[in-house]
Amino acid sequence: MPAAVIDGKEIAANLRARIGTGVADLQATHNLTPGLAVVLVGEDPASQVYVRNKGIATKAAGMTSFEYRLDKDVSEADLLAKVNELNEDDAVHGILVQFPVPPQISQQTIIETILSSKDVDGLNPINAGLLASGLDALTPCTPQGSVILAKQTLGNLEGLHAVIVGRSNIVGKPVAQLLLQENCTVTMAHSRTRDLAGLCKTADILVAAVGIPEMIKADWVKPGACVIDVGINRIDASERGEGKTRLVGDVDFEAVAEIAGHITPVPGGVGPMTIACLLKNTLDAACAQAGIEKINL
Ligand code: NAD
Repeated sequence: MPAAVIDGKEIAANLRARIGTGVADLQATHNLTPGLAVVLVGEDPASQVYVRNKGIATKAAGMTSFEYRLDKDVSEADLLAKVNELNEDDAVHGILVQFPVPPQISQQTIIETILSSKDVDGLNPINAGLLASGLDALTPCTPQGSVILAKQTLGNLEGLHAVIVGRSNIVGKPVAQLLLQENCTVTMAHSRTRDLAGLCKTADILVAAVGIPEMIKADWVKPGACVIDVGINRIDASERGEGKTRLVGDVDFEAVAEIAGHITPVPGGVGPMTIACLLKNTLDAACAQAGIEKINL
């Protein structure tokens, strides 16, 4: 396998350790402990795991973790009342409502109700607008993590051609904005793009954020490219004798690793960076709310 595998677990662990030091400094110098509130609606098993892991990582970084579990039948009004209560709570610097939410609740209304200063998911239109304008913003965690991996791997990204497959507000669009800020030449591809394979083959950095298991094939990849696989897909593993299911990305990892220069694995690539960047956003939000300069990590 010629490609070097990018170790997201290790890069995330190092970032979390630096955040822990930043939190300790903030407590020592300003008597301020960042607080992250996570709200989970319903009992989706994957969401329960994410929320539990976020709570553990928050406490491990020395921050205060607030967790709220609401019934799957909770009304939108009651969830909004909880969000507004957290908006006004000075001990809470970051608010995250775990998505997806049940159908009686509008995800967009929740996103717009969380104060932009506490929007550690970076999804509020105010933060999206600030990011698009190249201004200081709380930026979505998975895109931030993806770009950190590319930067730590390649160093200066200036002038490189980045192709992003997927244009969601949560992943594709913010990845494009962040890579533009790194002075990449950015092309966004999506379900209506013509000759997707040919376009991908022009990428120095190829980011896959589609949600289709192993869609990106080896002959779509330029030799030596840096491939960042954001996809997380659970597929049947019984025919491989590896238990019932296994996780794969949007990239055909084994074949693409023969061509690429660097590649993120799934799991263990982008995934671990998401929680680390959530903690970073919470630390940044706490500083901003207290009028303190951002801590340099
Ligand atoms: P989404 O469904 O909102 O968006 C998918 C995008 O892919 C769309 O913009 C669509 O245009 C594009 N697309 C769909 N079919 C396509 C095709 N055939 N060719 C080209 N483009 C196509 O998904 P999302 O929320 O952006 O998530 C994308 C993937 O990333 C999913 O697998 C998701 O599980 C994963 N994800 C991972 C993390 C993490 O922490 N690593 C976080 C968020 C999402």
